[in-house]
Amino acid sequence: MSDIEKLLNDHKVRPTAMRILIYRFMAKKERAVTLTEIENAFVKADRVTLSRTIKTFETAGIVHQIEDGTGIPKYALCAAGCNCEVDQDLHIHFHCTSCDETVCLTDHKIPHINLPEGYRAENVNLVVKGICEKCSTV
Ligand SMILES: [Zn+2]
Ligand SMILES: [Zn+2]
Ligand SMILES: [Zn+2]
Repeated sequence: MSDIEKLLNDHKVRPTAMRILIYRFMAKKERAVTLTEIENAFVKADRVTLSRTIKTFETAGIVHQIEDGTGIPKYALCAAGCNCEVDQDLHIHFHCTSCDETVCLTDHKIPHINLPEGYRAENVNLVVKGICEKCSTV
């Protein structure tokens, strides 16, 4: 069994050929991708299957969705052991205004936010905008 098959199994997702391909595609990107990018990479695949795969991955905690302010949701793979939990796994995302790419800064967790009594955080989205490493060295 390959590492990807094992990972999908661990998340209770049946490792179909399509799912493995999409996982591999996202792993290679090392940045967040849009559904359109996935569709363009798998032109022969059914669009419904592709969007369902991403939804399945998201529900299973294999990927997380990122709203980077561009209006188009992006998806990135979760790190091993990630439960997308507030104060645990949620990290800062960086959106480069030059190349329009969004990356996970997994080592930079979102700091704990003190909410008024009676409020409970379920999700926190923190996007830093600026110039990424690639663009600033050109
Ligand atoms: Zn996660
Ligand atoms: Zn950039
Ligand atoms: Zn991320």
